[in-house]
Amino acid sequence: SYGKKIGSRSISSFFNPYMREISETTLHTEINLRKGLDMNEFRLYLQPQMDCIRNKIEGFEALIRWNHPEKGLIAPVEFISHAESTGLILPIGEWVIRQAFTQLAKWKKSGQTSMTLSINVSPRHFLHEKLVPFLEMCLETYDIMPEQLIIEITENVAMGDYLAAQKRIIELRELGFLISIDDFGTGFSAFVYLQHFPIDEIKIDRRFIREIEENDKSLGIVKTIIDLAKLLNLRVIAEGVETIEQLNLLRSIGCKTIQGYYYARPMPSEEVEEWMGTKTTN
Ligand code: C2E
Ligand code: MG
Ligand code: MG
Ligand code: MG
Repeated sequence: SYGKKIGSRSISSFFNPYMREISETTLHTEINLRKGLDMNEFRLYLQPQMDCIRNKIEGFEALIRWNHPEKGLIAPVEFISHAESTGLILPIGEWVIRQAFTQLAKWKKSGQTSMTLSINVSPRHFLHEKLVPFLEMCLETYDIMPEQLIIEITENVAMGDYLAAQKRIIELRELGFLISIDDFGTGFSAFVYLQHFPIDEIKIDRRFIREIEENDKSLGIVKTIIDLAKLLNLRVIAEGVETIEQLNLLRSIGCKTIQGYYYARPMPSEEVEEWMGTKTTN
């Protein structure tokens, strides 16, 4: 509860004035985040993932933004870690899941039943006991095919509790959802989890993509990830592709699925239908 936290914070701030500033900022954000949630200020933007061989849409990734009444559109990097540390990531994550199911139900209505939607689930939410029952409830309510929802996690979920992460992945796949490892190669990269975690997809982090033209090491790493994905029968996506040169290079080394500004920036969900009209879908 707020009362308790304010109490302990004021005690520590009595001894450490620097701490007080940090705590107050955090508290400020926490209350604001809660308010933002209550006032329905969050928005889900969608960015397409393209088959670059056939020039077709395979799916979209959902990316949260906070449409603050005074500060305007706030990027997730500004608030997701606060949400994670305060626990507000739970209601925020559940909001994201509901929005995702709503979008999938909309696509179902218009006959787009092979379109996938990827969501980012934070480590704390991923390992939380409420995640599975919440997703089960959504499956019943929205009546969509679970394999259309891809759950993106980072390698760091395995850092805290390896067995719990493995168990959760298995539970979610038993429900029919797909699992993707986001920012692949930037976190706790233990190849052993590739062996023991039944995942479906890996996303090559844009830090590697950014340098593939100039940096032989980056190109080598990207090539190796693509080959590894093929060997393990995983879908592989290159993130952060901005130029035709990067796209051509990736295509030449066997990467089929591309996400990045080259095709489109993340867009408000209301604009997605119109954007899709300009492309071919699966
Ligand atoms: P991510 O999941 O790796 O998402 C990809 C990020 O790269 C997005 O930033 C996207 O806008 C950006 N991006 C895509 N293509 C390009 C490109 O060609 N060039 C450049 N420079 N950037 C590109 P965004 O939307 O700011 O999100 C940042 C991170 O915040 C995400 O990284 C994800 O870790 C987190 N995040 C976003 N939405 C959610 C959410 O709903 N829940 C949680 N837990 N985390 C989220
Ligand atoms: Mg992601
Ligand atoms: Mg990523
Ligand atoms: Mg990320």
